[in-house]
Amino acid sequence: MSTSRPVEATLDFATRQLHAARPRDEVRSRTTPIYLSAGFPFDDFDQAAEHFGTGEGFSYTRVANPTTASAERLIAGLEGGAEAVLVGSGQAAIAIALLGLVDAGGHIVAGASLYEGTRGLLGDNLVRLGITTDFVADANDAVAWEALIRPETRALVVESIPNPRNDLVDIALVADVAHAHGIPLVVDNTLATPYLLRPLEHGADIVVHSTSKFLAGHGSVLGGVIVDDGRFDALRSGALFPHLTAPDRLGGPSWWDRFGGRARIAYLRENVAVRFGPTLSPLNAFLLAQGVETLSLRVERQSANALGVAEWLAAQPEVASVDYSGLPGNAAHALAERYLPRGQGSVFAFTLHGGREAARRFVNALELFTPMTHLGDVRSLILHPRSTSHTLRTPEELAAAGISEGTLRVSIGIEHLPDLLRDLERGIAAAREAAAA
Ligand SMILES: *Cc1c(COP(=O)(O)O)cnc(C)c1O
Repeated sequence: MSTSRPVEATLDFATRQLHAARPRDEVRSRTTPIYLSAGFPFDDFDQAAEHFGTGEGFSYTRVANPTTASAERLIAGLEGGAEAVLVGSGQAAIAIALLGLVDAGGHIVAGASLYEGTRGLLGDNLVRLGITTDFVADANDAVAWEALIRPETRALVVESIPNPRNDLVDIALVADVAHAHGIPLVVDNTLATPYLLRPLEHGADIVVHSTSKFLAGHGSVLGGVIVDDGRFDALRSGALFPHLTAPDRLGGPSWWDRFGGRARIAYLRENVAVRFGPTLSPLNAFLLAQGVETLSLRVERQSANALGVAEWLAAQPEVASVDYSGLPGNAAHALAERYLPRGQGSVFAFTLHGGREAARRFVNALELFTPMTHLGDVRSLILHPRSTSHTLRTPEELAAAGISEGTLRVSIGIEHLPDLLRDLERGIAAAREAAAA
């Protein structure tokens, strides 16, 4: 079946190569089609002007794209949020979320157990824009949060399952502190996924993800998302966020006037993401949505496998400790029972007695686990943080993060558990040789 319509024979080659293939909008597709198009034609002169007035419809992919919008609705719904904005990576999601809240002179308070990229963003990059961050050593200590909040504080930031230590955060506790000051709580929910935990249901205001990890799951594409609860309240928080409540440049209605509770995410979409421009490719949005369709199945299996692996590792004499909140002896186990009843995720650390040499031999003996810095993949992955992701940390910071020379981080996949345990047995045998050598 030809996809092109008859072309005027009068047109020249140079014109025909542009205009001969017209999209067939009447074809219906079971999946959301990939609108791999930089922009979208207006119907006519008036509709163009109308679009710029109301924002309805699509004009240019950096602003909005139908494939991306479909994936945004999917993820917003799964997180229980009002609206989501997809961007090109998890790092972009965190950066854009914070730039939507904080300006020069502003301040952030964050839990100390943070993804390395986020730590760097806060500690090295936002500082250069005049935005400073204080870190709370114990994210479950309300008094410690209170002590760091200042009149300029515009966001509290935590991760629902910090990596690799699994020192879970009592989201409701931190949300209460945030709300007493009219400040939003931003939760990076990458490791939990909305299948295991929906931070907005526990009081968080904004959720961010690296969709590169569990949401996509296949490890083929990067992406990031910001989900907002749509409950910005100008009466409670307007004084802290004048960019949302002040009249626009021409004295017209504010973001709050136009979007009410969705002012925060509307501003973030139209005034931050669009301007800084970390646009997700519609092709990647499609691939992300394909992954999300199997999220519950994957995460269920990954969590069950992870518990099996953690229990097995904890029983090995070569293993000094296992940081998995699903284990009854773990310091975060009570929080896990409350926040993660469906499963405790599948990224965690364990520490071998034999230090770096044991870790090196362990990793090199594995055949199924892939040594990789990625996580949340359907395949099992392993990494030695001390020599890779965490080389720029002080000894005190490494101790606080629970990382020593013998520590390995795993991200457990959906393989058959006995196959994974047989592979880990190879690692344990190699680590034992290291101890004997
Ligand atoms: C990977 C990751 C990020 C960064 O995401 P990218 O997609 O790699 O940019 C942020 N937060 C957490 C918890 C992550 O695991």
